[in-house]
Amino acid sequence: MDEALARAWIAAVADSVRAEAQHLTDLDTAIGDGDHGVNLRRGFDAVTAALATLQPGSAGDVLGKTGTTLLSKVGGASGPLYGTVFRALGKTLRDGGTFAEGLQAALDGVQKLGKAEFGDKTMVDALAPAVAAYASAEGAPEAARAAAEAAKTGAASTVPLVARKGRASYLGERSAGHPDPGATSTALILEALARVTAEASS
Ligand code: ADP
Ligand code: MG
Repeated sequence: MDEALARAWIAAVADSVRAEAQHLTDLDTAIGDGDHGVNLRRGFDAVTAALATLQPGSAGDVLGKTGTTLLSKVGGASGPLYGTVFRALGKTLRDGGTFAEGLQAALDGVQKLGKAEFGDKTMVDALAPAVAAYASAEGAPEAARAAAEAAKTGAASTVPLVARKGRASYLGERSAGHPDPGATSTALILEALARVTAEASS
């Protein structure tokens, strides 16, 4: 991934988060405290401002800056978790690793911080299958498309689950029957990646 693609990805995520903020907040109202869309919109508004003044550099710089900004501007569970995702991606790329390795480091970081396993009805349910799908596809646009589809399927798979981590777990059985907000936003983030990667390679 080059710097232009990283910037295009984050800009597309910011657009998508703005467009879907109300939907994400509605999902979080059902099984949480109704702030997920608000949290992410505030975070990606801050990221947009931070990247506008970031000196030209590398994709790793852009994604690292995205992560540190999310960490410092977004409260709740999702700020530190998404901060970890983008910081891990940035660090891996700056250290010469591949994007697939960066996604794996992001998942490892999220699981180290949040202790959620696949099936606990969190963003891990979208991220883990996306990381695996990305790694097993050939070519950047194909891998990004496969990751986006896997994340979407993973987010949908959270509907019947009872939450075992995060605020939704306080609801016990009543958390079943609703999609997890964070798994839904992870699917949006990977859909944005698939879109900009396809555009860049066409
Ligand atoms: P909060 O729950 O603090 O209000 P948000 O509403 O912004 O924060 O984010 C909620 C989302 O964070 C959940 O839908 C879930 O996907 C994710 N999440 C919460 N706790 C964890 C965890 N321990 N591990 C992974 N993801 C988590
Ligand atoms: Mg919330």
